[in-house]
Parts: sequence; structure tokens; C-alpha cells
Amino acid sequence: MNKTKPKVKFVLSIDTEEEWDWSGGFPEQNCSVNNIQQLPDFHAFCQSLGVRPSYFVDYAVADNQQSAACLKEILACQDSELAAHLHPWCNPPYYGSTREKESHVVNLPLHQVAEKLKQLTEKLSEAFNRQPKAFRTGRWGINGEVLKLLSAQGYTLDSSVYPFYQHKYFDCRGAPIEPYWPDWKNPNRSGNQREIMELPVSVGFNRDDFVQGQKLYEKLAADCWRWFRPVGLAWHLGLLKKLYMCPELATGAQMIELADKLLQKNIGIIHMYMHSSSLLANATGFMKKGEDSVVLKSRIAELIAHLNKVAEVDFCTISEAADHSNKELLNGN
Ligand SMILES: [Zn+2]
Repeated sequence: MNKTKPKVKFVLSIDTEEEWDWSGGFPEQNCSVNNIQQLPDFHAFCQSLGVRPSYFVDYAVADNQQSAACLKEILACQDSELAAHLHPWCNPPYYGSTREKESHVVNLPLHQVAEKLKQLTEKLSEAFNRQPKAFRTGRWGINGEVLKLLSAQGYTLDSSVYPFYQHKYFDCRGAPIEPYWPDWKNPNRSGNQREIMELPVSVGFNRDDFVQGQKLYEKLAADCWRWFRPVGLAWHLGLLKKLYMCPELATGAQMIELADKLLQKNIGIIHMYMHSSSLLANATGFMKKGEDSVVLKSRIAELIAHLNKVAEVDFCTISEAADHSNKELLNGN
């Protein structure tokens, strides 16, 4: 019996940035970028799986000669993509010290974002001899004004939407989990503009209806229920799990569970995300103590082996995925 396998695009985006202690404030200069030296090994691992990473590089990495040289060699293999990542606290020009509020791009005056974006884009173009097309804010979150700025500075893709995530300063609830053209007025909705496409990362639940899953999740997490830790309880009972396509936050089995749900729902793209700094053990707080590239690689390999079994996988960089998605959107698929 020959059942046709579903087709799916697979994208891995890597926030390629300094390692730092999240509890110690926002560093402006002299950032440590030692983790970038782990990337050649990690890139070779991706090549062995056929994965084509998209490196969302921030100013601190592009500004350091050693790390820029390292990435330049990787990009020369022509099986990955350079994209831009804005950490406003360590990206000139500087407008005073950064607190929690100013660390989010959506909170900054637009002219500051424009200047920072300009310097980031110039730095990336100068260091790598190419113009990035895709962008992600540090710490997630986007709005229509920043999307317009991106388009004005030559970007055609954004990936700052974190589905089902809500923060004090922005809210991604209601956003699609597939590529779409965000509305200038509400980037969580599809609109009519065709200047910049949104490619959200993959997040979901172990239920068929993700929107209901989110509602239930919020209900369980609400303050009045906290006394018996219902989110943990629901997880352990297998009733409700929020699943992330992120090897820092999820095991191979959990990412497989999410991938299967996405395939079942005919979602044509699986978008994994991670930070380069997680390749070094204990460099940031994204992973548990002692976990490093070995753990990340085994989780990713487990997922890819499963995907190759159950689907026909098209490994893409983020721009390639957008091009394919655009054709599908135009064809009405
Ligand atoms: Zn970042």
C-alpha cells in the first residue's frame, strides 16, 4: 500500500548573537561572542541532515572580526542564509542605557529603530557582502510601523511573530502559524500589503484546535487557579501541552508530537528556532544547566529522522520557504 506522504517545508532559524547573563542587565559593548566558534561544527551537522539554516545575525557578532570571519566561511558554502537580528541594547547608535522596556524594539521611538536598523544592515552588508532579506527583533514582537521601516530598508521577510505568545509589551495571540502577509494595522492578521511577508515560528498544542488549546491554557494558568498548578497537572495527564519547535525548550519527542499535529492540520511549513549561544553549555538561561550542542543535535536529529519517515521534506532557508509559500498563496493553495 503506497500512501502519498504529505509535503512540508522545513526551516531552521538561528538567532546568531552574543552569549550573556540574562540576569545581569543589557550589555552595550564588549559582548562575548565565543559561541560563534561552535557554528562550523553545528553547520556541518546541519549539512549531514540536509538542513539549510538561516542565521539571524546581530550587530555584536558582525562587528567582531573573528566571529564574522567564521560566519563568512559558513555562508560561502551557499547552503544557508544571512538574515538580520536586532538587539537594540548592543546596536548603535546608542540613546542611553537599556532597561527591560527599551530592550523591546516595539517600545522604541521609530527614528531610533530606523537608525539602528540602518547601522545593522550596513554592518551585515559590509561584513558578509550581501544584503539580508529577512529580519527578527530581539525578544520577539513587531508592529506595523516597524514592518514598514523594514520594507523601506530593503527587507522582504519578517519572523518576529511568536504564535500564542503574549508579553507585557506585545501580543502575538491570533497570529497565523503559516506564512502570511501581515496587515500594517494589525500584524497578527493577514492584510492586503505585499511588501513584507511574515514567517512565524512553529508553536502549537497537543490538540486539534490550537486556538481552543490556547484558551484552555490561559484559563488553567490564570491566577485564581494557581494554587494547584493546573498547567503542570494538565501536562502530566497529557490533556494539554503547549509545544515548541525549539530544541532548547522541547525534547525530540515533544517536537515530533508538534510536527505530527502540524502535518495533520495540513500546515505546509515547520519552522524551528534556536539561539547560537545555546551551543555553549551554561552560556545563557535558555537551556537546563549542563545541556549543550550535544543535546541540541540529538533532539534535532530525532525530529528530522521522524520527518523524513512521515513526510516529503523540502529543506529551505527562510527566503526559499517564503518564495515557495508565495507561489502557493498566488495559486490559492
Ligand atoms: Zn536575540
